[in-house]
Amino acid sequence: MTCDFSLRHYRDLLQAARVGGYRWAGFDRPPESGDLILRHDVDLSLRAALAVAEVEADEGAWSTWFLMTRSAFYNLASSEGERAIERLRELGHRVAHHAVWPHVELDERFDHVVAWHNPDPEYMQAPIDGAVNVMEAPFFDPDHYRSDSNQHWRHGCPHEQLARGDFEWLQLLTHPEIWAFEGRTMRETMEAMLDADRAARLELLREDRIDLGTFRP
Ligand SMILES: [Zn+2]
Ligand SMILES: [Zn+2]
Repeated sequence: MTCDFSLRHYRDLLQAARVGGYRWAGFDRPPESGDLILRHDVDLSLRAALAVAEVEADEGAWSTWFLMTRSAFYNLASSEGERAIERLRELGHRVAHHAVWPHVELDERFDHVVAWHNPDPEYMQAPIDGAVNVMEAPFFDPDHYRSDSNQHWRHGCPHEQLARGDFEWLQLLTHPEIWAFEGRTMRETMEAMLDADRAARLELLREDRIDLGTFRP
């Protein structure tokens, strides 16, 4: 088994969690022994989010998806955005808010759970009125937390520890773009995402009745 960042190995992680006896959990109650809280911050691509969400559903898993209302890369109010939320809910996932400080925009699309995007230490763990902050106690504890930030596991890929049941419980943060688009480095993965984005945007231009003539890329 290769610990790369691919949908194939993401599936391995889910299967490892099942071998380790974990149960899927969210942010609606304090973590209990045996919980695996799958958290996804969607920074860049709804398409990547759906690709990972489908793999999870296929493995009988569900997770909490944190979506942005202020992303420079996707528009949650577009038809693509609305479809993405609909599909995530349909697959049994939870949809929460990936907020940009200081804007908490919890409308009917979101469960009342917030993960700050690129938070500064001053407010990262501060309580939020009317919502759970995923980085506050009891949901966050450094020994019960792993993240794939910038395509790097600070403590190594957790699949073996999951399979052994080493974590009493775990909040596992993954970014879907890293898994849905392939590359050996974050740079390569981002290039793959941008290449795919160009094709998707050409399709959007066609839908928008832009005359693209007979040009073939
Ligand atoms: Zn691994
Ligand atoms: Zn983020």
